[in-house]
Amino acid sequence: MSRLIIVSNRLPFSIDKKEDQPFLRQSSGGLVSALVSYFENTGSSVSKFKEHIWIGSVDFSPQDWEQVEHQSKTSDFSVEPIFIEDEIYDLYYNGFSNSILWPLFHYFPSLAEFNESYYEAYIQVNFKFAEKILSIAKDDDVIWVHDYQLMLLPQILRKKNTELTIGYFLHIPFPSYEIFRLLSTSWKSNLLKGILGADLIGFHTHDYVRHFIQSSKMILKVDEQYNNIQYQGRHIKADLFPLGVNYKKFNSAGLDEDVITLREGIRDKMPGTKIIFSVDRLDYSKGLMNRLQGFEYFLDQYPEWIERVVFIFNLVPSRDGIPAYMEGKSSIEEKVSEINGRLATLNWQPIIYRYNHLSFQELAALYQSADVAFITPLRDGMNLVAKEFVASRANQDGVLILSELAGAASELGEAVMVNPTDTKEVATAIDTALKMPLSEQKSRMEPMQKRLQQYDVVRWVKDFLDQLENIKKEQANQQVKMLDDKSLVNIIKQFESAEKRCILLDYDGTLSAFTKNPAHAQPSDEVINLLKNLTSDKKNEVVIISGRDPDTLNQWLGHLPVHLVGEHGGFIRIKNTTTWEKQSATGPEWKDQIRPILELFVARCTGSLVEEKKNTLTWHYRNTHPDLGFIRSRELLNNLSHLTANTPLQVIDGNKVLEIRLQGIDKGITALKMVKLLDPDFIICLGDDTTDEDMFKALDDIAITIKIGTAGTAAQYSIPSQLDVMPLLQQFTSKEINQPGHIPHMQQD
Ligand code: UDP
Repeated sequence: MSRLIIVSNRLPFSIDKKEDQPFLRQSSGGLVSALVSYFENTGSSVSKFKEHIWIGSVDFSPQDWEQVEHQSKTSDFSVEPIFIEDEIYDLYYNGFSNSILWPLFHYFPSLAEFNESYYEAYIQVNFKFAEKILSIAKDDDVIWVHDYQLMLLPQILRKKNTELTIGYFLHIPFPSYEIFRLLSTSWKSNLLKGILGADLIGFHTHDYVRHFIQSSKMILKVDEQYNNIQYQGRHIKADLFPLGVNYKKFNSAGLDEDVITLREGIRDKMPGTKIIFSVDRLDYSKGLMNRLQGFEYFLDQYPEWIERVVFIFNLVPSRDGIPAYMEGKSSIEEKVSEINGRLATLNWQPIIYRYNHLSFQELAALYQSADVAFITPLRDGMNLVAKEFVASRANQDGVLILSELAGAASELGEAVMVNPTDTKEVATAIDTALKMPLSEQKSRMEPMQKRLQQYDVVRWVKDFLDQLENIKKEQANQQVKMLDDKSLVNIIKQFESAEKRCILLDYDGTLSAFTKNPAHAQPSDEVINLLKNLTSDKKNEVVIISGRDPDTLNQWLGHLPVHLVGEHGGFIRIKNTTTWEKQSATGPEWKDQIRPILELFVARCTGSLVEEKKNTLTWHYRNTHPDLGFIRSRELLNNLSHLTANTPLQVIDGNKVLEIRLQGIDKGITALKMVKLLDPDFIICLGDDTTDEDMFKALDDIAITIKIGTAGTAAQYSIPSQLDVMPLLQQFTSKEINQPGHIPHMQQD
């Protein structure tokens, strides 16, 4: 059984003093609550980990730690503190993390201070974390790194130990590429490479996943399909895992005696008054000024609510070492005074303002006693307060006003949604919420609660860790298949002892590298010589099995004694003959229906092109904007699958191509046909694309199948890239057979 190592910027403890005696206080917050609930719920007997360790920095000295260390020992997890010099920590945390990454990732580029010394400290601290982890971690441990302060850490760890299982979760938004690219060239590529050191990368929403992938494509040119990323020979997954709340804890908090007393205290002080509330860290991303303006405008526009509504506006101190935060505080306090001064009556004050931390009981009492939660951040990775409010409403009453720019909005669609900058919309939303009939409140609350109950904190942790385990299994499957020297020696032995060998070779991506223009991929002299050498041995039958049309194959390879298969099996030309045998009798009318759609997509996606062959139509998008090309290909795939349903046409989702052809002809069927015809006692087959997978599957029991590239495959072996094909095939020519078993230029990372 392995151990789970959680890594976050801070350990979930701070030190307080009681009668001059230091004691440990467990911190609150989404991540702490999620992991502590997971540890408690799984219990050591059912947890798949034999131990949980939490590594993070602390804001106290090693001497203080010695005094309280014994208090940190719980049965659920142990902790390993990292001590960082104050000056470095300030540059790393207040500097790079919170004066560059935080503002930029929350779409406040004007607040970012691009300072080189911040970045240097960020690197230094990430290395310090790595050092600590590596001093503890074993190969089979699972390491889960959290958040924007530690973006470089996964790659630092990976470089030291390629075997580690590393998960990474970003708790803030990942911004669109147009914002991310504002970072200097080396910073942005290092941050992405840093994250890509992980095996699984988690975000709160689908948009953040897409943004991350787009930046990785544009900056690092990664390959990606359905959130599966191929980078430097590694298979990495990015996916969404929306952080949940401890649903049970909030939903049942109404039974707690202290909460009941506090809740009744709030209600008794405001009889006949509706209560609106918000709770936020004091942060410019929370849209606090916009919220006050919205509330003020509401009171001006709907004066019937004067003396009938109170807004309890709670701010929690945060990052007060950063000037932007302190400046924000004074202007917010001025605005609160201005509204209260202008609108209060002798019996009533519109805003009750608090600047303090709340205990869980206070928070729960507020969640339960309020009529409306008023949560309107300008940007928020998730926003747990909104979810906690919904979870707390055991009677399913109450209304949530929620900013559409909070990550939580994608799961809480039944809230009264607002754009926080639209003062008028915000004011109308408050009026709507205050007037909402109980039946509507319930019908909105119910589905939101159901969702939060289903995907609570424990599920979130479990889901992430399960997926991390899956991706490791997928990686292991791929690794087993990499063609190593030992397997090659074995294959060559079989080859040598065979009397009749069939060598099936795909063309594009196998014998020839991809070129921008498909017409420029003619065979090199090296390929021609190789084919001549192979065919000079009378025991060898070489079949070039390609998606190319007969004319091209004739022109490029027709002079060689090889069997040619064109259009994935649509045409066959037996060696030393000149006629192509057509494999389908169906007419070409279908193309007239499909061609205009492909042409429409050429217009919608600059750089794409249509290739027409006798039995196929192909839309190529290799030379398009990587993200747009992919998105358009999904749209086209969707359109085509509707059009071709219940017809003999088949749509193949290939390597940067979509191909439409008549079913019944594929490389698998054709390869079997050739094998039957040639009757060999040794078969080897090489290919790189989706169409070659048909061949690998059809020949599985009777041939040696080799895939070019690191993507998942049905082939028995893989080799890293097209550059490895020629050195491999040279091994089968008589000259090289004397020193078998080593691929000279294997392109492994
Ligand atoms: N919270 C807290 N102490 C407080 C007020 C709030 O621990 O005095 C908790 C609250 O219950 C919630 C978290 O802090 O779980 C705030 O998370 P959210 O996602 O809303 O905002 P963030 O502070 O992470 O930007």
